[in-house]
Amino acid sequence: MIQGTTKLLGVIGHPVEHSLSPVMHNAAIRHLGVDYVYLPFPIRPEDLATAVHGFAAIGLVGFNITIPHKQAIFPLLTTISETAQAIGAVNTVWHTPTGWSGTNTDVDGFLAPLKELNINWPGKQAMILGNGGAARAVVAGCALLGMNPITVVGRSHEKLLAFQTSWQTSPLTVSIQISTWAELPKLLSQADLVVNTTPVGMHPQVDHSPIDPSLFSNLKPGVVAYDLIYTPRPTKFLQLAQAQGATILDGLEMLVQQGAKALEIWLNQPIPVDIMRQSLLEHSDHRG
Ligand code: NAP
Repeated sequence: MIQGTTKLLGVIGHPVEHSLSPVMHNAAIRHLGVDYVYLPFPIRPEDLATAVHGFAAIGLVGFNITIPHKQAIFPLLTTISETAQAIGAVNTVWHTPTGWSGTNTDVDGFLAPLKELNINWPGKQAMILGNGGAARAVVAGCALLGMNPITVVGRSHEKLLAFQTSWQTSPLTVSIQISTWAELPKLLSQADLVVNTTPVGMHPQVDHSPIDPSLFSNLKPGVVAYDLIYTPRPTKFLQLAQAQGATILDGLEMLVQQGAKALEIWLNQPIPVDIMRQSLLEHSDHRG
């Protein structure tokens, strides 16, 4: 029940209508019986500072951040975690007596299903497809696992170089190699983990795969194929990898676990991750 004492949480973005965060956070809030509500706030880039100052004025407890504010929020924060600094993006903010603090829980989300696998990750080789925002959390996660080298595959050599350079001042020790898609056939057989961070294969382009179907036979035995996409489950990329014997992971668990980590920061109590996961599954069933 929303009442006079109800405390506010939310997500800011532009657009934000598509966000699944209100579904899973409010499911957890209901289950816990805590006096909170989680709302979507569509905020235009030019209104970001006004909105965040307003959030402090109305006593908002914390919020998630999605595109396009993940970098723009930096100057509005008084403390930023080492992880968020390394990634260069913040997705979770909470209010403190001295101002707003921020971190990035996408790394926790990305790592959670990998840690469930019985694999000794240090020294294993990672291949990351794409060099956008999500790839940064994935690189940080692979570095935290001790994977080496981490090869990032992209379309533009300049963007790849800028991506690689940006990690040189990172608090994380990251060994990044960069590669264009043309070099993928010869590199694929060395990777122990292949992560798709491109949107290729996302609904409605469900028949597309970021890697040409003819190349899947190059996958290393025992490889883990991980797609950050969560609609559809599994993607074409994961179906083709599984047909070669790969262990597959889709993006739903990352989405759930980054949310659970954020809620844990705000509520400071154990979070019902199963309830959050179930709420998303039911929501996608409902929407067909
Ligand atoms: P982004 O910043 O726009 O980056 C997308 C990357 O994919 C860019 O490097 C882009 O290359 C590359 N790319 C786009 N189309 C491509 C194509 N046709 N062929 C090859 N490469 C292509 O997006 P993002 O925020 O990183 O998100 C990427 C994906 O991850 C989305 O599907 C998103 O839903 C998913 N995601 C999932 C979670 C989760 O919790 N599961 C979290 C975050 C993101 P250029 O740089 O050359 O343009």
